[in-house]
Amino acid sequence: RIVYVNGDWVPEAEAKVSVFDRGFLMADGVYEVTSVLDGKLIDFEGHCLRLDRSLSELEMTNPHSNAEWLAIFREIVAQNGIVDGMVYLQVTRGNPGDRDFAYPAADLPPTVVLFTQSKPGLADSPAAKTGWKVISVEDIRWGRRDIKTVQLLYPSMAKMAAKKAGVDDAWLVEDGFVTEGTSNNAYIVKGNRIITRALSSDILHGITRAAVLRFAAEAQFEVEERNFTIAEAQEADEAFITSASAFVMPVVEIDGAALSGGKVGPVATRMRELYLDEMRRAAL
Ligand code: PMP
Repeated sequence: RIVYVNGDWVPEAEAKVSVFDRGFLMADGVYEVTSVLDGKLIDFEGHCLRLDRSLSELEMTNPHSNAEWLAIFREIVAQNGIVDGMVYLQVTRGNPGDRDFAYPAADLPPTVVLFTQSKPGLADSPAAKTGWKVISVEDIRWGRRDIKTVQLLYPSMAKMAAKKAGVDDAWLVEDGFVTEGTSNNAYIVKGNRIITRALSSDILHGITRAAVLRFAAEAQFEVEERNFTIAEAQEADEAFITSASAFVMPVVEIDGAALSGGKVGPVATRMRELYLDEMRRAAL
């Protein structure tokens, strides 16, 4: 693979970042994952907007305009011949030359890294036909989950707990209410209503979430942004998750309780089709 490091295009084995980089020492950095379908970027503008917000919340300067980012994204897709897959972008505060809790001056050049993953047939994932099983675990992450930082240790631990339990993912629960999945937003369906937690610093503001809620409203579903419990989810007609890499993924079991007879439901299926159709059409 060819990766991008601070303006250079290099084979992955030759890519270098300083051991003093604050991304490495302090998880002081942010990232974005953008899917590629048929060689085109899915919701590129949405990811650019959130990148800019994450950086500004951490008082970092966005090193590129959206037009420059687009050129870099397109170049890495082309260099690696990606048809279906994803582009990973990470911007860390950079290398201040030593370890210190205080931020270095704002004009320190950030460290910018991009790489790709090839995932042939990404949109036809067999899992979308059978759905995911999830368990619930306590949400003990920090209080600024709206910033997409590279500090992903607890979500990794929760994913491992899910794997050990023989399921696909974990839904995180705080004060009795579901916040989100380890790396996705969580939804339940009751009749014609799609219910998901409202935006706040408790959850990541999913780019896929924004698109799916827009398409759901256009398709005459009722959208309700409010808290729900695991017990309510287990009684719901359907559940699903959204993320840039899984798109819309049905959830068929929560803590051992089957939803919609353990089968993928019609609303999740419809939303997945709608999302993929609309986003492919608008892809860059
Ligand atoms: N929540 C969390 C905690 C995530 O890590 C992600 C994916 N990065 C999401 C939600 C989904 O966000 P998006 O739709 O922008 O991928």
